[in-house]
Amino acid sequence: MKVVIALGSNLGDSTSILNQAITALSEFITNSRTSSFHTTAPVGGPEQPDYLNAIFVGETKLPPLELLKKLQGLEAGAGRVREVRWGARTLDLDLIAYGELQLESDELTIPHPRAHERAFVLAPWHEIDPEGELVGYGPIADLLAALEV
Ligand code: ATP
Ligand code: CA
Ligand code: CA
Repeated sequence: MKVVIALGSNLGDSTSILNQAITALSEFITNSRTSSFHTTAPVGGPEQPDYLNAIFVGETKLPPLELLKKLQGLEAGAGRVREVRWGARTLDLDLIAYGELQLESDELTIPHPRAHERAFVLAPWHEIDPEGELVGYGPIADLLAALEV
């Protein structure tokens, strides 16, 4: 299944944290492509440092919840501590899309419910997949253009 994962970090050595995460993701996501790293201002939450964001797309055989657990394991491995909602973190891995799947549960909502309104997700995604579409929301190029007007 084709998956889209958003990476973010604004604590610690974010460049090396993202690079390590990409290496780790590549163990269970193949044929992958990664965007460049975008420095972005934080959206919501308390005052905190700028983020380094990237998008990673590829193919996986893992079912959605197992994939989420893997992502959470990598977050924990990067020393992420859950404190304030939307607060600073060493590593955030969000599952943005899983093929054409639409799913809403306590643990997992796909597509990610806020991805369509986030330039820090759409811009790096558009960079590596300009024809991409967000299931239920439309072409990412259109979503991005709507944010930029
Ligand atoms: P946001 O979701 O607005 O980007 P966040 O990334 O800071 O905020 P977290 O604290 O990382 O939020 O995650 C909270 C919970 O969101 C996780 O425990 C997870 O179960 C749930 N969740 C639901 N859908 C997703 C998804 N598509 N990707 C990642 N986590 C998800
Ligand atoms: Ca997030
Ligand atoms: Ca998250």
